[in-house]
Amino acid sequence: MFETIMRRAAPAGIEPQKANGGPPQASRALTWPARLAVMCSCAFACAQPITTQAQAVAIQAANAAGSGVDASVKPGDDFFAYANGAWLKSTDIPAGKARWTVGNDITELTKKQVMTLLDETATAPAGSTARKVADFRAAYLNETAIEAKGLAPIKPLLDRIDRVRDKAALTRLLGSGLRADVDPMNVGVFRSAHVLGLATESSIHGEKTYVAFLVQGGLGLPDREYYLGSEPGNQAMHARYQEAIRRVLALTDTGRALSASKRADAVMALETAIAQSHATQEFSGNERNADNLWTRADFAREAPGMDWTVFFAAAHLASQQSFVAWQPSAVKGLAALVASQPLQAWKDYLRVRVIADYAEVLPRDFAEQAEALRGAPSPTASADQPQSERAQRATVVTQAAMSDAIARLYTERHFPAAYKAHVQTIAVNVAAAFTKRMEAAPWMSPESKVMALAKLKVLYFGLGYPEKWQDYSDLAIDPADAAGNLRRIAERNYRQTVARLGKPVDNREWCIAPQWPGAVLLFQQNSHNFAAALLQPPKFDPAASDAANYGAIGAIIGHEVSHFVDLLGAEYEADGRFRRWWTPADNARFEAAYMPLVNQYSAYRPLPDVAIDGKLTLSENIADLGGLVAAFDAYRKSLGNKADDTEYVRQQDRQFFIGFARAWRSKYRDEGLRKQLANDHAPESYRVATVRNLDAWYEAFDVQPGQRLYLEPTARVRIW
Ligand SMILES: [Zn+2]
Repeated sequence: MFETIMRRAAPAGIEPQKANGGPPQASRALTWPARLAVMCSCAFACAQPITTQAQAVAIQAANAAGSGVDASVKPGDDFFAYANGAWLKSTDIPAGKARWTVGNDITELTKKQVMTLLDETATAPAGSTARKVADFRAAYLNETAIEAKGLAPIKPLLDRIDRVRDKAALTRLLGSGLRADVDPMNVGVFRSAHVLGLATESSIHGEKTYVAFLVQGGLGLPDREYYLGSEPGNQAMHARYQEAIRRVLALTDTGRALSASKRADAVMALETAIAQSHATQEFSGNERNADNLWTRADFAREAPGMDWTVFFAAAHLASQQSFVAWQPSAVKGLAALVASQPLQAWKDYLRVRVIADYAEVLPRDFAEQAEALRGAPSPTASADQPQSERAQRATVVTQAAMSDAIARLYTERHFPAAYKAHVQTIAVNVAAAFTKRMEAAPWMSPESKVMALAKLKVLYFGLGYPEKWQDYSDLAIDPADAAGNLRRIAERNYRQTVARLGKPVDNREWCIAPQWPGAVLLFQQNSHNFAAALLQPPKFDPAASDAANYGAIGAIIGHEVSHFVDLLGAEYEADGRFRRWWTPADNARFEAAYMPLVNQYSAYRPLPDVAIDGKLTLSENIADLGGLVAAFDAYRKSLGNKADDTEYVRQQDRQFFIGFARAWRSKYRDEGLRKQLANDHAPESYRVATVRNLDAWYEAFDVQPGQRLYLEPTARVRIW
């Protein structure tokens, strides 16, 4: 399913990703560029059954416009079933899955595309970026070199810990360990592998330059609840985690007076205290935290116990005068714990954290602890295939660490510049058509229209891939130094993040990987990123007719344009400032305009005992409707002088609507449907029923009174 991540401060529950704190995250706090790592965990780590060859052939057939419909169904009775006939017939929901959607098809395809590219990098010329990707992956798999090096690659880090003799030195060490592995504003990464994580992003007050964010971190287990919660499995997990800590301490630091198990107790106690200071996931997921701007004086006053001047100097942030403390309790807690906890506990804790960060690329004794050190469940039956697991892990880690490099290879192969230009034309035309409708909307006040116009004017639609690529020439990747590669990438990422401070905000900057089949909507940046991987058939098909593409990707783009000025975008002004700009009169008239759509959706009953919640799904249904009408206007305009040929237009109109329905094909078991009915996106087949509000759909398919989707002309809803 196509799901856009939205970053905004709308009421809780509207966007499920938001409530969970962003898209699915990797189960460990990452040492690597987190904003990229998160994407890969979402798109690639969740293995799904592969589409069969027969299914693939049927899907291809279904894509050919005009074919693949189910002629036994009247379009006016069930347009979704009519348009998606061949696909529905040939697609089986894999065992163990509650649904299968176009998003699953695209994800499977993308995985194969990326794997092929990764394999091909092995023969790329030495020194090229593609070869660096190959070398990174090879280093991860080079267990002989890893064993031979022992702890040498991280010895400088361990030695620094050993040299700490007082709290000032500890503070310096914590500051120098700050890394840019969080992303609170864009995709929602709310925890760092280190005691704090740094991000430089657009904030919510219309700032012209990037803002520094500090985000909580430093826990080995995924979240505070893993330490403090009373879930049944917690005790066993603690025992396993603590045993891994004990083993790491025993392996790296023999000959101490205190036993490793006593020291492991102290580390666990310190981590638990850190967890107590941490904010909950719910708190972390709330964008209003972007309002906690602390000056350097605030740190000294609000978070005593640690010398923040020393900390920031060690973090190369001496001249930065203010930071958003995303979770103030964690900042306060860190400083207090530096003061109150024994130095030895801190040193042992940091030793374990360093090993945990690099465990997978250290000798086997340590690598074996890697999973336990990130709170992963006990090994299951699949553990009898360590080699293939390592190969899979190498792929995931490479995709995370070298995401931008892979993105460039991916788009050169699968989304060339001509495709980008093609989608760009559609996007520009749909946005123009939407703007016209917005200007004519009777419910929106003239003063609000001024703001809406200003927003649509600055809106950046990133399509396929970023306008600029990273230059990897300064990055050294050694095929025999896996840990060094990881360290160099993390340090480089941090340097780049710090260097952005004070620089003007660039709303054309991307925050998702083009090879992740998804999209992200950034209200505070007035921008939208559509990944190349998402722009594949049937969402966008370069071989299909313009009509079909306007119906598919055009309507999706229109949907997103609507969000920038509808209920959701009403919270953000043109410069990204978080301030509601709709007037009270807009609200009242808008409610009158949308109520018929609420009622239309509430009348759908996908299961005998559950109806669609017309209110819950309202924002999405409004955007679907606005997107579809804007795409239709833009498509009709694109016909030029062919618009006079009635029969041609009728054929093209059909392709437009069929293209729309195919971009949302999906199949559900009852339990999957039940789950979807609690989501703010209605099941796809009902979203496709949006067509019944457009007069042109009736004409294209000769829909008559008495057919199930038929609406009297006066009952057809129009909002934009
Ligand atoms: Zn939406």
